[in-house]
Amino acid sequence: MTGARELWARYLEQRAQLGESPLVIQGARQHPPESPDRVPAPEAAIPPTTPEPPRQEPPRAESDAPRPSRSRSPGKKPKAGPRWKRDMPPIPPRGMVVTAATSDLFSEDPLKEASLDAVAAMIHECTQCGLCENRNNAVPGEGPGDALLAVVGEGPGAKEDETGRPFVGRAGELLTEILAAIDLPREQVYICNVVKCRPPSNRKPQQDEIDACVPYLHRQLEILKPAVILAMGGTAAETLLGTRQSLGSLRNKVHEFRGTPLVVTYHPAALLRNPNWKKPTWDDVRIARQLVDNRG
Ligand code: SF4
Repeated sequence: MTGARELWARYLEQRAQLGESPLVIQGARQHPPESPDRVPAPEAAIPPTTPEPPRQEPPRAESDAPRPSRSRSPGKKPKAGPRWKRDMPPIPPRGMVVTAATSDLFSEDPLKEASLDAVAAMIHECTQCGLCENRNNAVPGEGPGDALLAVVGEGPGAKEDETGRPFVGRAGELLTEILAAIDLPREQVYICNVVKCRPPSNRKPQQDEIDACVPYLHRQLEILKPAVILAMGGTAAETLLGTRQSLGSLRNKVHEFRGTPLVVTYHPAALLRNPNWKKPTWDDVRIARQLVDNRG
């Protein structure tokens, strides 16, 4: 019944729209033509098909923009403190203790109470071993006299021989990054090697060369009195500790060199060859850093 009424209503509307006179039927309700929408079309209930344009938010200044975080879940507070202190390894147990006296090279030398600069001057003139023959520059070491950390490597490479400065090649750049990562900028660290002249073809220094040169290192450490010594690589570790033990067995211990804590780790050049050693090295240098804090 309702359908029939609607058909009538449309029919009457169409007539009205075409200008025809309205039909008057007894008993039927006529809808005035001037208000056709009194009979709703089905589509009248459908929202306008042309959507309103989306509201344009005013552009946000870049500094206000939230920065996406890849690792932090919402609501999680960032960890406080420097990066090197996060998940820090504990201080390992005590290792070897070295109490030997300074070498005879300096025992009757007028420079016994010398400064680091005076020792460096001796090194530049040194002919105690065959490594002097091919050197362009001796590399005594560098760093402030009040450095809390002393880094000891093996010997100069080509770049060091060329410049007269320690750890300036690729391995040196990595060392600089490592030191920066533990908040000890390179400029605050004393850096030197076991031998002060470059072995040919970057070979490992021979024992007689080490024996001839190590008194300079001993004297530098004696003058410097650092809070911590970081021996990087097997040659530095073996020489300072007077042992033939492997680097792996010397790691993760706090040795003592004439009263100064000594930590052993990989040489940066070794890290360039084997990135798997970066993690243990990162732990070792953070142990050394903790010891610096404890002693400084
Ligand atoms: S390596 Fe050492 S001992 Fe040998 S010549 Fe150079 S400074 Fe002297």
